[in-house]
Amino acid sequence: MSRYIHQPVLVKEIIRYLVIKKDGIYVDCTAGEGGHSEAILKELEKDGRLIGIDWDFEVLQIANKRFEGHKNWISFNENFINIHKVLDILNIKAIDGVLFDLGVSSFQLENHKRGFSFTREGPLDMRMSTEKGDSPIFPSEKLEQSPKLGQSPRARGLRAWDLVNKLSFGELRKIIREYGEEFHASKIAGAIVSRRRKKTIDTTTELCRIMEGAVPRRSKIHPATRTFQALRIAVNNELENLRKGLQEAIGVLAPGGRICVISFHSLEDRIVKNTFRSSLALEVITKKPVIPLQAEVKINPRSRSAKLRVAEKRGEK
Ligand code: SAH
Repeated sequence: MSRYIHQPVLVKEIIRYLVIKKDGIYVDCTAGEGGHSEAILKELEKDGRLIGIDWDFEVLQIANKRFEGHKNWISFNENFINIHKVLDILNIKAIDGVLFDLGVSSFQLENHKRGFSFTREGPLDMRMSTEKGDSPIFPSEKLEQSPKLGQSPRARGLRAWDLVNKLSFGELRKIIREYGEEFHASKIAGAIVSRRRKKTIDTTTELCRIMEGAVPRRSKIHPATRTFQALRIAVNNELENLRKGLQEAIGVLAPGGRICVISFHSLEDRIVKNTFRSSLALEVITKKPVIPLQAEVKINPRSRSAKLRVAEKRGEK
């Protein structure tokens, strides 16, 4: 068993599509615990570089420990929509490949204090980004002298608690319907509003109970699944970040450079597909999304819904 909680998906496929030059410059926009990053680093030769970005400082620390002293690695505790800014600091004009492995990591899900999981009692938080550490984080001493991003700590924004306890019925219904694609959005929003009249809804399990009471349990998926997904997407502004992040990444790719995106639900996948198709700067490499082999799904159930899309930047190489 690995020492790391999060098991990366489609690793072989990512290497095959992403690492086109062993001495290239790559960005892992969702470094997490560094599962994919480790595989990429193994491929790189002396001059290759990998820049890891994650807005969760806690998880990025694990990746930093994992790659301690590794000359080809450098990390930034940032939102990936700021990829351009990160590259400016490093004086990098263009990159050979960029990876997005979207969504929440198992590391975050399993930490009950973060409030992502309805099977673990925790506060209704769900913010993926954490209070900032010093950013950027340079592993080698020499680089530690480099300039800092010079921003005030990022405002972390609203928690799931704020949405659940303060939004109107209509706003809640809209979020649950649109981001959760939940058929019972009205019933669920109604149940939340009626419960919070008596007392604020404070924990993941309290919220989960409300959904169990409001929705008939017919399908295999738990009645809280879609609403938790919806709240998480809203709290972290995930779809807007994805749209911006993709545009920024496409902008910094060198001709021939690759963009690889792994998504885990249809809302994300639709954005990726449409962005790739409508971007004149890109040639789509995967006509259909790449999905994991049965063998991978067996050992890593989280990979079940993963879809990888790859595109290449056009232009003279
Ligand atoms: N590939 C990683 C796991 C990634 S899980 C591994 O193999 O270990 C997704 C990660 O993306 C999470 O750690 C989450 O904090 C991060 N993330 C999600 N949205 C982000 C954003 N807008 N900016 C930066 N990081 C983000």
